[in-house]
Amino acid sequence: NGTGTEDNVVVIGLGRFGGAVAKSLLDLGHEVLGIDENQEIVQDWGDRLTHVAAADSTDEDALRQLGVPDFTRAVVGIGSNIEASVLTVVALTELGVGDITAKASSSKHGKILRSIGVHHVVYPEQAMGERVAHLITGKMLDFIEFDDGFAIAKVRAPRDAAGRSLADVGLRTHYGVTVVGVKRPGADFEYARPETVVPRGCTLIVAGPTASVERFAAVT
Ligand code: ADP
Repeated sequence: NGTGTEDNVVVIGLGRFGGAVAKSLLDLGHEVLGIDENQEIVQDWGDRLTHVAAADSTDEDALRQLGVPDFTRAVVGIGSNIEASVLTVVALTELGVGDITAKASSSKHGKILRSIGVHHVVYPEQAMGERVAHLITGKMLDFIEFDDGFAIAKVRAPRDAAGRSLADVGLRTHYGVTVVGVKRPGADFEYARPETVVPRGCTLIVAGPTASVERFAAVT
């Protein structure tokens, strides 16, 4: 029925996670088909999503009738019911949906999802837990880790860097981190260049292997 294009995403399970994904996709300008077996949840989303339907997503025929085979991308936000999560992924695979992201509620759940062909397994609670731990224990103002052990953090610049150029401070040589952006108090972020002079009291965006970023944040 032609609803599926590059910009369209089907989100299955409109709980806290799936709901947040659906809303963000809408804000980013995508068309979203939301599916949940819970009538109340479906009604609740009715006026916000492009299309929303009540269905059991483990039922391949039901998904076919909703036009799911037209979609190239799906997000499965079912976490607490592992059987429903797995069977939904199997149904999506059978229907030829090429790019599947699924939430895992535990590492074992994640292992199963990977083994049945989920392309992106996400662990929202675990990821946010790690992030909060970094934010409250280190000097990081913000922190994002990618699943390949690479991280980007917002940190206060080390005191002894003030007034020197980034080339001179040599954070890449000393800590293995690359400065991506520099922010003076009250100003916008600027792209960092070797000749950029680090202002006193500024904030840096640094990128690098997670361990290096952590080591650097501990000394700033
Ligand atoms: P969260 O913690 O993000 O709220 P849950 O796993 O608690 O995640 O919620 C998952 C959502 O998925 C619920 O709204 C639930 O109704 C829905 N759901 C669970 N099983 C199915 C299924 N077989 N078909 C469709 N929706 C389902």
